[in-house]
Amino acid sequence: MREISAKEQGYTIGGRPLAAGLYLVATPIGAARDVTLRALDILATADILTAEDTRSLRHLMEIHGIALADRPLYAVHDHNEAAASPRVVEAIHAGKSVAYASEAGTPTVSDPGFPLARAVIAAGLPVIAAPGASAALCALTVSGLPSDRFHFAGFAPATAQARRAFLEELRDVKATLILYESPKRINQMLEELVQCFGDLRNCVVARELTKRFEEVTRGTLGEVAAAYAGRDVRGEIVILVDRAPERRAEQGDWEGALDRALETLSVKDAAGMVAEAYDLPRRDVYQVALKRGK
Ligand code: SAM
Repeated sequence: MREISAKEQGYTIGGRPLAAGLYLVATPIGAARDVTLRALDILATADILTAEDTRSLRHLMEIHGIALADRPLYAVHDHNEAAASPRVVEAIHAGKSVAYASEAGTPTVSDPGFPLARAVIAAGLPVIAAPGASAALCALTVSGLPSDRFHFAGFAPATAQARRAFLEELRDVKATLILYESPKRINQMLEELVQCFGDLRNCVVARELTKRFEEVTRGTLGEVAAAYAGRDVRGEIVILVDRAPERRAEQGDWEGALDRALETLSVKDAAGMVAEAYDLPRRDVYQVALKRGK
């Protein structure tokens, strides 16, 4: 059976054909209806469709009743992006509109699309965003952590040594940290965050956002790590960690800060807080706190 073209379905971009250029189209991270109307217009009218995963894009288009008709749909992913880019540039040069969608969320954000966009920009041709869902912003929105300044760190490196260096670099960043993580490594990552940042900073783990089993766990790093310890975790995950605490006084004042903290906190919590705030070895502060504490 012949598929009905976008024109026959009534899709247009303001009554005009889509201008030549690369359209980076955000797709849902869970709920299929989280696609924008403009993204659907672009998917319906672009001359050429490209996608990290052509099956996912076809599925999304089917859900929303958008026909591929006789338009080409190519796979462009991490393994062929460099080779595929010149073909896309050539097509745009020839006046074609090319849509690109990664598997879920916003292209280029821990996803393919960056080399493609750079190649099109380098050729002096237009790159246009069709913005929409991204797990990072979705997680920040529900986290309850400060959103005035945030630092997207993506996925941590795979090796333990590189990960340690990566976390140490993030430790003093004065912004809410946003990390992507796999369910297989979430427990280990939370433990490593506790080791590197201490257990008192606020942390949020946002899992399966916009999906049926959406779950948001909030608490201190120690509490969230304990809540996840030993759990067989599934699904997609974003970790958020509150910013590094402000240093409230000069380094020499840490014992005074410890005395004040001991007025309201336990020895362990007071030592942890002061050690983190003054960047001191937790064990040393703990020993002093033990002598001064209740
Ligand atoms: N480009 C995507 C974006 O804009 O969010 C991110 C793609 S990256 C390959 C996939 C990672 O994003 C997952 O491992 C997870 O960390 C996060 N993620 C994607 N969908 C999610 C969801 N529904 N809930 C929580 N995290 C999600």
